[in-house]
Amino acid sequence: MTPRAILPGSVIGVLGGGQLGRMFAMAARRLGYRVHTLAPEHDTPTGQIADVEVVASYDDVDRIREFARGVDVVTFEFENVSALAVAAAESHAMVRPNGRALEIAQHRIREKMFMRDLGLPVTPFAPVRSTTDIADGIRLIGRPAVLKTATYGYDGKGQVRITTHDDPLQAWDTLGRHEAILESFIDFERELSVVAARGVDGSVAAYTPIENVHHNHILDLSIAPANAAPEVVTQAVDIARAILEGLEYVGVLCVEFFLARDGRLLINEIAPRPHNSGHLTIEAGRTSQFEQQVRAVCGLPLGSAELLQPAAMANLLGDLWVIGEPNWAGALAVPNVKLHLYGKNVPRRGRKMGHLTVLAPTTKEARARVLAARTALSPN
Ligand code: AMP
Repeated sequence: MTPRAILPGSVIGVLGGGQLGRMFAMAARRLGYRVHTLAPEHDTPTGQIADVEVVASYDDVDRIREFARGVDVVTFEFENVSALAVAAAESHAMVRPNGRALEIAQHRIREKMFMRDLGLPVTPFAPVRSTTDIADGIRLIGRPAVLKTATYGYDGKGQVRITTHDDPLQAWDTLGRHEAILESFIDFERELSVVAARGVDGSVAAYTPIENVHHNHILDLSIAPANAAPEVVTQAVDIARAILEGLEYVGVLCVEFFLARDGRLLINEIAPRPHNSGHLTIEAGRTSQFEQQVRAVCGLPLGSAELLQPAAMANLLGDLWVIGEPNWAGALAVPNVKLHLYGKNVPRRGRKMGHLTVLAPTTKEARARVLAARTALSPN
């Protein structure tokens, strides 16, 4: 029997206080829900929108238990919440997506093994836990390779490349000899992502693949629909569905892929939540990824994932503030530009402060316009 839906008027608890929680809270409030958030800081991007902001550490099991007691369902907007904390939440409220999905997604080795066991194509990899592992791994994987910490890595943090001249052991030293994963460095033609949701009833709704461009390992630009052959699109969506089903997942998930030059589609990683590459669904989707997350975690029917128009999204990093306040009026003068700012007061280099989205008749035009709008932000 399908569990009862959590209806508007109920309280959704969000672990995490960043921009993903903020945009989720906006969607939840539009649908008439109340939102509580828990994060270690005060006045967070999510806290500014939520009804209640709890300041507590993610390791504070007692506070998390108390937080869960005060809400109808708990979700999270970032994945590095400890298994202990999730278990504490689960003892008092429903947690969606489930703790197992979180446990798999927050550990790169577990994640890759899980997907390989499902028979899905992943980047060739080898676990590294000892000096012997690293030598064996290089023999197996070859060079160039990338060494990544198994946990707590994001936006290229905790990653080092190993080319012909590098000493693999030294590379591991730079990562503090923490448990790591060695991956083949993929010569990719492009990077793609599929944002998809699975409902409580098992139904799946996937957005069309999105094309992503990273700069310094941080997402810079997303374009939808991706420039990919129909069979690649089908394969990518089928993979996302297999992962959702394999995890018995309820909620929105993102699968990031490399489309290799030799035509292989390989999974890089998964994110158990709405994703930066899916921000363009706010304007371009029949249902945004955040509304979809609200619907899924509350056990309501999923909305249509149809893309209404080609779209492009450009991230705005703290670097833009280096020479002063960006020229907002300049960017907004570009036709059809939508500006999103996350309410962060301190613009550090590499920090995601906001994004711009443009819809246009073609992806080429959307991309050109979003880039023009971003350029207009920093006149010289
Ligand atoms: P990740 O944190 O693993 O998503 O890595 C961030 C970005 O680094 C990816 O989106 C790629 O642009 C690049 N990258 C990571 N792993 C690899 C790899 N095995 N081969 C090629 N590029 C990679």
